[in-house]
Amino acid sequence: VTNTILPLTDTITPAEEAAVVGAVRAAHDSATAVYPIGGGTRLGYGAAASRPGIGLSLRQLCRVIDHSPQDLTVTVEAGVTWAELTQRLAAEKQRLPFDVPDGGRATVGGILATSLNGPRQFACGAIQDYVLGIRAVDGRGTAFAGGGRVLKNAAGYNMCRLLVGSLGAFGVITQATLMTRPMPETSAFATCDLADFDAAEKLLSALLHTQTLPVAVELLIGPVWPINGGLSQFRAPCKAWSDENGTVPLSSAHAKGLLVGFEGSAAEVQWMIDQIGQEWRQLGVDSSKIVLGADADFVWDELIGFAAEVQISVLPGKLIGLIDGMLQSQPGCSILSHAGNGVLLVRLPPTLPERFSAAIRQLRAMAVEAGGKMSVLARPEGVALSREDTWGPPGGEAAVMRSIKGRFDPKNILNPGRYIF
Ligand SMILES: Cc1cc2nc3c(=O)[nH]c(=O)nc-3n(C[C@H](O)[C@H](O)[C@H](O)COP(=O)(O)OP(=O)(O)OC[C@H]3O[C@@H](n4cnc5c(N)ncnc54)[C@H](O)[C@@H]3O)c2cc1C
Repeated sequence: VTNTILPLTDTITPAEEAAVVGAVRAAHDSATAVYPIGGGTRLGYGAAASRPGIGLSLRQLCRVIDHSPQDLTVTVEAGVTWAELTQRLAAEKQRLPFDVPDGGRATVGGILATSLNGPRQFACGAIQDYVLGIRAVDGRGTAFAGGGRVLKNAAGYNMCRLLVGSLGAFGVITQATLMTRPMPETSAFATCDLADFDAAEKLLSALLHTQTLPVAVELLIGPVWPINGGLSQFRAPCKAWSDENGTVPLSSAHAKGLLVGFEGSAAEVQWMIDQIGQEWRQLGVDSSKIVLGADADFVWDELIGFAAEVQISVLPGKLIGLIDGMLQSQPGCSILSHAGNGVLLVRLPPTLPERFSAAIRQLRAMAVEAGGKMSVLARPEGVALSREDTWGPPGGEAAVMRSIKGRFDPKNILNPGRYIF
């Protein structure tokens, strides 16, 4: 899985918002494409850029403008890295409950522009729920702002919602005010084997009535999990597989496990771990294990760092049927599912570039049939995907987005070609 190299003729690194304004205004005047770059960790996400242009690195906009622990807010420039921000918040026993891979390099601007959520979304909500205010520069080189803690609101649009997740297509994010949360004292996972898909359905349904408050409900399926190192010592699903109960068997290469994550005070977490153990025993689960402390931190990292090519969202009730179908059509793929949110991340087995597009289309057809949506997160080197193969056919929102794009970026200079239009 590699990043696409953007067709950059030059890269500039402004250190002030005013310099971003100047650079984008000059690019607007000469109709030059501008590709915002944060940490550069996920430049391959999105469709291929449509023409050469300049890279606009935000890494020097890296100041923490304000942190008010008592108000649970922090205002930072877009180039602040996730590691810098989390360290700063941790000193006040606070955090943002986002699950960010490559935190040493990923920046706040990149995290907001891509807005991909991880396991904690189940309990903590989506990234956009934490954005109180945002500042950005549109495709005409005009600075604008929306939400709280800002000087001026651009009337008529919810700027935070518009900019978060739009891959820099409407504006270069320069600053954001985020709502922080208290840092939990500790975390833990309860894990168990899943003998088959019936067992998965049964345990997921039972979680609807659990007395506990999970922060993450994760299904792990596929060959990558046992051999990916480390995680196998904490979880059970690499156990060999049998169909002795006459239920749907999968290949022995397909490890399957359920991980349920908890966070809170030590006493709360201990109570929830004991409680879920009891609930699972009543359901006949005899393979449960507990992962605590530093081992739990390691599991979080493994989940957050799972590299996938495809993300699918579907109603949670359709999840298991879809996974079953996918394993039959793409044997050897590995899956991490944020099951409580109906999100599936799929890592395809290594394949020839020419087969990748066919696999993508097949998975999309299955996702759509299940009433879901799919986007491509990354593609192997040498594979060029069309915009439609990357994002799927344009939905009803595309026309609205296109018209907003026309107002914010009339010459289509911001990340041209890469988003859904
Ligand atoms: C496969 C995959 C899995 C992921 N999983 C998760 C996850 O589980 N949880 C999670 O929180 N995140 C996830 N992400 C998102 C990831 O955290 C972010 O993509 C990453 O943090 C981007 O940071 P960056 O600074 O390296 O951005 P870059 O790689 O530099 O840029 C990414 C995109 O954002 C645009 N961009 C960057 N900065 C700005 C800016 N200031 N203004 C406007 N546009 C900008 C770029 O043009 C580019 O299109 C995932 C991403 C991918 C592709």
